[in-house]
Amino acid sequence: MKKIIIGNWKMNLDHLQAIQLLQKINYSLSENIHEDIDIVVAPSHTSLRSVQTVIDTDNLSIQSSAQDVSEYNLGSYTGETSSLQLNKLNIDYCILGHSERRSLFLETDEVINTKLKNLLKINITPIICIGETEEDRNQSIQIDKCLSQIRRIFKGVRKDAINECIIAYEPIWAIGTGIVAQPENASEILEEVKKYLLNNNFLIEKFRFVYGGSVTKSNAKDLMNEESINGLLVGGASLDPDEFIDIIKLSL
Ligand code: PEP
Repeated sequence: MKKIIIGNWKMNLDHLQAIQLLQKINYSLSENIHEDIDIVVAPSHTSLRSVQTVIDTDNLSIQSSAQDVSEYNLGSYTGETSSLQLNKLNIDYCILGHSERRSLFLETDEVINTKLKNLLKINITPIICIGETEEDRNQSIQIDKCLSQIRRIFKGVRKDAINECIIAYEPIWAIGTGIVAQPENASEILEEVKKYLLNNNFLIEKFRFVYGGSVTKSNAKDLMNEESINGLLVGGASLDPDEFIDIIKLSL
């Protein structure tokens, strides 16, 4: 399975700064690195078009992702961006259900389910985020919590309609806190999710399973040594090009 490293730039950088960061990352990558690993950056919507244009014109071995998409397709939804609009940008991926969307913007699994169904109609690979709270983990219900998110998010999705997909296990207590999950614990959750999808007859040959939450160059290698972890979703550390490059190199 080809590895994947995704940098979530969140609501940082204007479009000029985003291009600069993209170019810095690209400068330090070897020419054929994309044969071993997919490298994805997720800028804000205001920077997506500029970033994708640079990727296309300079033929970079980096791909781009949106950080979110609207659940609606067209019309009077001020401030929203539809999957059809994203599709026109030639981007490759879209993050769905990031915990910040869930906690700050009250996004539910049902809304994420609608967004997923919209993305499946076009050629953008979903990066679906799941993860438990600290309280869930203290009660040892983290597996149940993640599986119930998966069950709701995949509800009504045709088993053969979903081809490429990234499932990102991002425990909420690990995001932006400097506390990283133990590799074997992250691996256990991803294995359970994989088992659930297989038991429910999803065709997951092209699914990749990644971990996110306080990933840095000091923990990337240990996480990537786990067989069930195909990649990493990196937040804060992806804004520092040197750190992000180190994470990529340590993941190879
Ligand atoms: C994220 O926001 O997806 C994330 C993993 O953030 P951080 O790496 O900063 O914890």
